[in-house]
Amino acid sequence: MGYRKAPDNHNKLIVDEETAWIIKRIFEYANAGMGSHKIASSLRKEQVPCPSWWQYTRGEKDYSQRFSDPTNKYEWSHTVIRGIIGNPVYLGHTIMCKHETVFKVGLLKKTPDADRIRVDNTHEPLVSQEIFDNANAKILSRKREDTSGNVSIFSGLIKCGTCGKAMSQRYWGRDRHRIFVCNTYAKNTQRCTDHRIFYDDLYDAVLADIQYHAQLAYEDRDKAVALAIRMNDKAEGSRAKSSEGKLKQARKRYDEVTRMFDRLYEDSLSGRISNDNFTRLVDKYQAEQAQLLEQIDALERAMQEVRDTRQNAVQWADLMAEYAGIQELTAENLNLLVERIEVFDRAATDDGVEQTIRICYRFGGYIGERCFKVKAMKHGGHRRKGVDNEKALLVS
Ligand SMILES: [Zn+2]
Repeated sequence: MGYRKAPDNHNKLIVDEETAWIIKRIFEYANAGMGSHKIASSLRKEQVPCPSWWQYTRGEKDYSQRFSDPTNKYEWSHTVIRGIIGNPVYLGHTIMCKHETVFKVGLLKKTPDADRIRVDNTHEPLVSQEIFDNANAKILSRKREDTSGNVSIFSGLIKCGTCGKAMSQRYWGRDRHRIFVCNTYAKNTQRCTDHRIFYDDLYDAVLADIQYHAQLAYEDRDKAVALAIRMNDKAEGSRAKSSEGKLKQARKRYDEVTRMFDRLYEDSLSGRISNDNFTRLVDKYQAEQAQLLEQIDALERAMQEVRDTRQNAVQWADLMAEYAGIQELTAENLNLLVERIEVFDRAATDDGVEQTIRICYRFGGYIGERCFKVKAMKHGGHRRKGVDNEKALLVS
């Protein structure tokens, strides 16, 4: 929004006069100190069409279902506003991902920014650096944590990666760090291990993962779809791929057996086969038919799964793309995007402690794991926040 691709060069952005004013207005509002919720409600009141409506009306995306309700035309969400305010594309810069796929598990000392290339001044800016910085400073100064006290935005989403039970929030140590602990372990320390994870580490890692995948989906929908399909394939093994051939074979064999059955009856009627042999062969063919039917059923289900996976992947990519530029996690956006977050045990390494989480996205399923580093700490010790290598690391 605010730009469109140049007709003669699809890699070049030109100002879209029809929508650029909306972007400028959003930045003006943010500069005036309005929060993202307030900006969204103002645009609704002013009846400014939202970004997905522009995409729909220009035939870029099929949102026909959403816009069958005409009031949705002005349905701005605060997340979209935040995405716009944080997006350096409006300064005239282009952000590209350096790697094809960036989320393989492992640990490299690399900051997320190192995986991105920013190319400055690739197109005409819509806002000045000053307006951009000011808008972002104002938005970011708002609190990231839920103000409703004890209720965590992660409530109901965090599961122990070992036993599958929920993890619940505790306060740990002298400094009362907010942590999550496996519920099984909390009841009986013999049954599981504590899986403790710091709220801040979890927050940073989940936000980084969503940011990465949202940006990917926004920049290259096909790549995001392919990624989701590939990960689902991996999770199920390559079983689905060979299903089509096997299904054909099973159906062919089933027809053969049916024909042999028919012939068997003819042989029996004409007396060419003894009663004993007839009964034995009937049993044999019946058993094979039953087995083939079972096999055909299973293969058809596998084929349907492949089709569903594809559809889910597309849905996932479309949903994620709307969160490009996301700056903050809320109970609302987390529950919309994430099915569950599995937390694995901390593991000590030579220079600290690392931990892996697995985020299962809605529609997308299990897309990858994220490994990040946390500082080893002794009971009652201090944990400095904001140290670079403690932060979630995007790994290639
Ligand atoms: Zn557990």
